[in-house]
Amino acid sequence: MCVFCGIVAGEVPKHEVYSGERVLAFLDINPATRGHCLVVPKRHVERLGELSREEAAELLEAAGAIAEACRSQLGAKGVNFWINQGRVAGQVVPHLHLHVVPRYAEEEVKVEVRAERAAQQELEETAERLRKGLR
Ligand code: AMP
Repeated sequence: MCVFCGIVAGEVPKHEVYSGERVLAFLDINPATRGHCLVVPKRHVERLGELSREEAAELLEAAGAIAEACRSQLGAKGVNFWINQGRVAGQVVPHLHLHVVPRYAEEEVKVEVRAERAAQQELEETAERLRKGLR
């Protein structure tokens, strides 16, 4: 089973931010910035083009709502949305995921994950604030 299927199934721990009928969002364990989320279809697909219309709509709606919560709850000034599709494009987990990366200032953020893991407490607090913003 892939790690994100494990997260969807509740077998791998996560800091959940959103759960809908077809889509789940949780914090990236190696955040590029505070509040970096991954938005995934609950069904295992690898590529964007494999999504149904309903899944694609919910994925994009969730990403937009999370970006709003990053603004209202975390003070983000902007957001990067990105998908790595295929190993050659940098996709490490072969379960489609949209990165939602809040930006706080004009400093450079490398389009790659941080080498070190975020602290559990920081992840928990950030997820709670984003959930609050989505209520
Ligand atoms: P990508 O390179 O686009 O495939 O990104 C995969 C992302 O998944 C990376 O940013 C990882 O930090 C993240 N990741 C891997 N395992 C987990 C996990 N168990 N929980 C949260 N994020 C994860």
